[in-house]
Amino acid sequence: MVTIQLADEASYAALSTEPRESCWMPQQERALKAFSVMAEAVSTRLDVDSVLHEALDQTLATLEVEAGAITLLEDDTRQLVFRVQKGWQVHDFAGQQLRIDAQAGMTGIVMRSGHPLVTDDITHDPRIAVDEFREEPVRAMILAPLRARQQVLGVLSVMSYQPRRFTMDEVALLAAIADQVGVALDNARLYQQELERRRLTEVMLETERRRARELNILRDAVMNMSGASDLLDLLEHLCRGALQLSPCALGVECDIYDEQHDRLTLGMALHPDGSRRPLCAAPHHTMVSRKALQERRMQKLTVPSAGTEVLDAAVTYIIAIPMQHQAANGVLLLGYEAQPQMDEQTENSLSLLAEQASLALSRLHLYHRERRKSVHLALVNHISQTAMAELGDEAVLCNVVRLIQQSFGLYNVSLYLGPQLSLHASSGGRDIPTEPPTVQGLAALAAEQKRGLLCNHIESDPRCFIPPWVQGHAHSELAVPLIQRQAPAGEVLGVLELFSIEESAFDEMDRQTMLTLAQHLATLIENSRLYADLEQRNRRLHDAYIQLRELEQLKDQIIQNISHEMRTPLTFIKGYTELLSEGQMGELNQEQLESLEIIARQADAVTYIVEEIVSLRTLTADALSCVLVPIAGVFEQLRPVFEKRAVDAGLSLTMDVYPPDLSVYGESEKIKRMCYNILDNAIKFSPGPGKITVIAVADGEYVHLKFEDQGIGIPEQYLNRIFDTFYQVDGSTTRRFNGLGIGLAVVQRIVEAHRGKVWAESQVGSGTTFHILLPRHLPTE
Ligand code: ADP
Repeated sequence: MVTIQLADEASYAALSTEPRESCWMPQQERALKAFSVMAEAVSTRLDVDSVLHEALDQTLATLEVEAGAITLLEDDTRQLVFRVQKGWQVHDFAGQQLRIDAQAGMTGIVMRSGHPLVTDDITHDPRIAVDEFREEPVRAMILAPLRARQQVLGVLSVMSYQPRRFTMDEVALLAAIADQVGVALDNARLYQQELERRRLTEVMLETERRRARELNILRDAVMNMSGASDLLDLLEHLCRGALQLSPCALGVECDIYDEQHDRLTLGMALHPDGSRRPLCAAPHHTMVSRKALQERRMQKLTVPSAGTEVLDAAVTYIIAIPMQHQAANGVLLLGYEAQPQMDEQTENSLSLLAEQASLALSRLHLYHRERRKSVHLALVNHISQTAMAELGDEAVLCNVVRLIQQSFGLYNVSLYLGPQLSLHASSGGRDIPTEPPTVQGLAALAAEQKRGLLCNHIESDPRCFIPPWVQGHAHSELAVPLIQRQAPAGEVLGVLELFSIEESAFDEMDRQTMLTLAQHLATLIENSRLYADLEQRNRRLHDAYIQLRELEQLKDQIIQNISHEMRTPLTFIKGYTELLSEGQMGELNQEQLESLEIIARQADAVTYIVEEIVSLRTLTADALSCVLVPIAGVFEQLRPVFEKRAVDAGLSLTMDVYPPDLSVYGESEKIKRMCYNILDNAIKFSPGPGKITVIAVADGEYVHLKFEDQGIGIPEQYLNRIFDTFYQVDGSTTRRFNGLGIGLAVVQRIVEAHRGKVWAESQVGSGTTFHILLPRHLPTE
C-alpha cells in the first residue's frame, strides 16, 4: 500500500476508502505496467513538448480518466502556463497558452506544498483560480506536482466528468507518474539547454572565425593602402577590401571629397566581376554620400529614399560610410540587391576600413604635397642660382622669366618693373606687344596690396584683367609682388604674373613658392643695381688711382730733375769754396774763412740729399758690383761716427757680429749706406737715455741684421708706409725731428737690389727694431 501525503487535510474526505476489491489486483497490475510504459516513453524523449503529450496520454489511459492537463512554471514570470490539455469539452486553455498565478487556486496549493491535491466535486470548489474553468463540466480531479531536483516544475492534473472518488492508490499512482514526468521534463529541459549552449558555442565560434577573417582582410587592406604610392593604387586596395568584407555587395564605389571646394568626385568603382561601373550617376549629387559626410557616420538607405540615381538597376539598398580620420576626405559606398544581413561586427570592420583609408589618403596627400614642395624648392634654387651666376647682366631677368615659365609648365609668365610697373619680360603666350604695357588687374592689385593673389577662374573674376597675349587660353592666374628688402625697404620693385591653362591650377603652396621666388628676384634686382653701382665706383676709384700714380710719378720726376740740375751748381759752389778757402783768390781773414767753412758744410749736406734722391732711381740690382763684404768691417767703419753721436745723445751703442767673419754678398758702399741710414734714424728718434743694439747673425742662406732702439716707436698703422719715398710719420712743419723721408726708401731699394728683405717691428714709446735679411752668397739662379 502506497502512502502519500496530500496537499491539504480537507481533501481526505474526497478520497474513496473503498478500494474496488474485485478488480484491485488486475487494475494495479495494469497501472504498474502502464506506468512503466509511460516512464520509458517519456524518459526516452528529449523534446519537452513531446514529453508532455506522451505523459498526458499515458496518464489518462493508466488512470482511465477522460481529461487532463499539464501546466508548467515559467521561470521569468513565475506564472503557470497551460502547455498540454486533453479531453476537455469546452475550453482550450493550452491553445491559448493561458497563464495563471502560480500561487492561486488549487494548482497554487500544489505548487506551494509540493504534494498532490484531490477533489471529488469541483463545481462549487472556491479554490478554482480561473473562473472559465467552472464552465467545464468536470466533477472530480487530482492535481499532482511535477517535481525534479527538489523543485516543483508544474502541475499534472486529471479530471473526471463523472462524479468519482479517486482512491489513494490512484492518487499515489498519479503522484508517481508526475514525479516521473517531472524528471523527464527536467532532463528534456537540460538537454534543450545543452543543445542551446552548443548552438551558442557554435555561433560564437563562427563569429570568431568570421572576425578573424575580417581582421585579416582589414590588416592586408590597411597595409596595402598605407604602402600605396599613388591614389589609384590606394583606392584599388580599399575597394577590394570592402568587397571582401561584404561579399554580398553588388559593387563598391569610393568618392573623394575635396573639403576646400566642397566637391565630391568619383575616385574608383569596382564590382566583384572586376568591372568598374560607378554605382551612382554623379557623386556630387549623391545625397546619401552628403549625408554620411554631414552626420559623420554610416548611412543605410533604400535606393528611392537615398536620393541617388543608381546606375545598376539591381541595386536597391545602399550603405555609405564616411572616410574620416581627423577630417572627412571621402565616402565609401556599397550597393546591395536587398538589405544585407550585416552584423555590427562587419559594420565596424567596414567603418574601420574607411577610417584607415582616410588616414592613408591624408598621408598620401601629405607625401605628394611634400614632394611637390621639394620639387618647387629645387626649382626655386635652380632659378635663383642661374640668376645669381649672371649677376649684373640685364638679360638675366628675361632668362629667369623664361625659366619659371618652362620649369613650372605655365602658359605665360610676365614680369613688370619700374615705377610705372611696365612689362619688362614675358615668356609663353602669343603676340607679346613691343610697346610695353603697364600692369593691370590682379597683378596691379597684388602690387598695391603687397601680397600674393591667386584666382582659379579668371573669366568670372572681376578682379582679373586678361592680357591679349593669354586670352582664350589662360584660366588661372597667380600674381606676386617683388618687394625691396634694402632701404627704402618695403617698396614694390615689380610684379610677377603667372597664367595657367588649367582651371584651379594654383593653390596656397604655389602662392608661397612664387612669393619666395619673387623675393629672390627682388634681391637679384637689388643686387644687380648694387653691383652696377659698385662697378661704377670701382671704375672711378681706379681712375683716381691712375691719376694719383701719374701725379706721384710726375712729382718724382720733378724732384729727380731738380736734384739732377742741382748737382752742377753744387759742384761749382763746392769748387769755388775750396779755391777761396785755399786763398787762391786772395787772402781771407779768419771770419771769412769760418763763413766759407759753413758754406762748404751746408753744400755737403745738400749734396748728400741730392745724391740720395738721385740714387733712388739708379739703385737697381744690375747697377751693383757685388763682392763678399765682411759685416764686421762695415761695423768698424761706422762705429766711430755713431759712437760719438750716441754718447752726445746720452745713448749707448753696441755692434756685434756672430760669427765674427760673417759676410754678405753685396756692394760694400751700399751696405754701409743702408746701415748708416738706419743707425741715423735710431739716434735721431731716441730722445735718450737708452741703448742701441746692432747685431748680425747667420740665418740659413741669409745674414740677419737687427737694429734695436728704445726710442719713440712707430704706430702700427704706419709701419708699412715708412719705406715710401718722402713719407714721415710726423710730416708737419712743426715736427720735432728733421729729415726728408727718403732714408728708409733708400734702405728698401738697397735691400731689394740685393734680393733681401726688410721690415720693422715697433711699439710706441718702447722702441723700434729694423730687420734686414741679405744673402750670404751669390744667388744660385
Ligand atoms: P726721415 O728720417 O728723413 O724723416 P726716413 O725715410 O729715414 O726719413 O724715415 C721715415 C720716417 O720713419 C721718419 O720720419 C720717422 O717718422 C720714421 N722712423 C724711421 N726710423 C725710426 C725709428 N728708429 N724710430 C722711430 N721712427 C722712425
